[in-house]
Amino acid sequence: MPAGQNWSCHGCTDCCRGQLLITLSPEDKLRLEQQNWSPADGVDPAKLIVAGLNQFRLAHQADGACVFLDATGRCRIHAKFGEAAKPLACRLYPLVLHPAGQDVLIGLRFSCPSAVANQGRPLAEQGTEIKTLARLVLPDDHQSIPPPPVAVTPGMDWPDFLRFTRWLDGTLAAEKVPVALKLLRAMHWLGAVERGCLDQITGEDADEILEALGRRAAEKLPALPAAAEKPSGFGRLFLRLLVLEHARTVTVADQAVRSSHRWKMLAAAWRLARSSGRTPALRAGLQRVKFADIEKNFGPLSPAAEALLTRYFRVKIQSLHFCGTAFHDRPLIEGFRNLALLYPIILWLARWLAVSDGRAALKDADVLKAVSIVDYQYSYAPYLSWRTRLLHQRDDIVRLCAWYAR
Ligand code: SF4
Repeated sequence: MPAGQNWSCHGCTDCCRGQLLITLSPEDKLRLEQQNWSPADGVDPAKLIVAGLNQFRLAHQADGACVFLDATGRCRIHAKFGEAAKPLACRLYPLVLHPAGQDVLIGLRFSCPSAVANQGRPLAEQGTEIKTLARLVLPDDHQSIPPPPVAVTPGMDWPDFLRFTRWLDGTLAAEKVPVALKLLRAMHWLGAVERGCLDQITGEDADEILEALGRRAAEKLPALPAAAEKPSGFGRLFLRLLVLEHARTVTVADQAVRSSHRWKMLAAAWRLARSSGRTPALRAGLQRVKFADIEKNFGPLSPAAEALLTRYFRVKIQSLHFCGTAFHDRPLIEGFRNLALLYPIILWLARWLAVSDGRAALKDADVLKAVSIVDYQYSYAPYLSWRTRLLHQRDDIVRLCAWYAR
């Protein structure tokens, strides 16, 4: 369980009204069919399930809400048959479960308003409920899934692999250190692991070496650079395209008119790639504003925003939501570099939200909203491994993190 993370469903119905497409397992579909829905329940039984190419999903109402959401904001399935009768995806969200040998690591999607705001019961107290879900979700052979490589070479066992994530989490747990600096230090010592071919170290020796590398990174990088080196034009171009990939919305209405939605996204990509004049208007809160206003110096983040970002990155690390089966089967180091890229993406989006609201300074609500937007798409947004590698080779991931911490 991620330390310090709370969550309970507060019935906001955000996930029932939003863009989430609820795919159905064969068991979900059979159960829904056996529930014998009728017009007396307020639904059209012939229009509950939509057939896709390879799977079925729940239908939506004209306003985009789930077909089972009633006018008072209640789930009709939950109200009539109880929580366990709902589709598995609804029962699980926003939890994510990742097998790690004998353990199952628990994370959360910060797209859920309660998760990003850390509201509800500590996850650590919800073991019984989560174990019930885990039994329903995980394949029988989940304990035999091997860990991903740390760098390139596979074959490490889970206890030794998890040493690396524990030290990564330790780097992000440092107090009174800006998140951007913690990410730079983590990338610094991971780079040393890669260059020194230390990705196969095991046992207590590994702890000693990783501890020394982490300490060395903190000595080498005592503070964020006073004059951050500007990321290359190439790095900033890819950052803006990554912002688009993480902030775009695909509503049910968009799915119905795929060609016009595609043209809208292509036009937005062209405008963001050129970056002259004004941004496109992408969604509610992200209006047409001057690129120059987003690129101004916004100053350091507030302690509350730092705490939110620290919690966000620590939950991703502790739940392994950045590598292996949870992230396109990527090795730990590459996955972490991609995770660190979320920092400038979130800050760029938060600035866009602030400027759209007519401000030249960030509020905590901007950062919270940006985290929520980004985590809706994170790990679903297109992942191009060559792009992360190229950005890393040009030192642009480090430069982007430092630049947007200003
Ligand atoms: S089935 Fe119920 S919980 Fe799931 S999206 Fe629909 S209304 Fe929400």
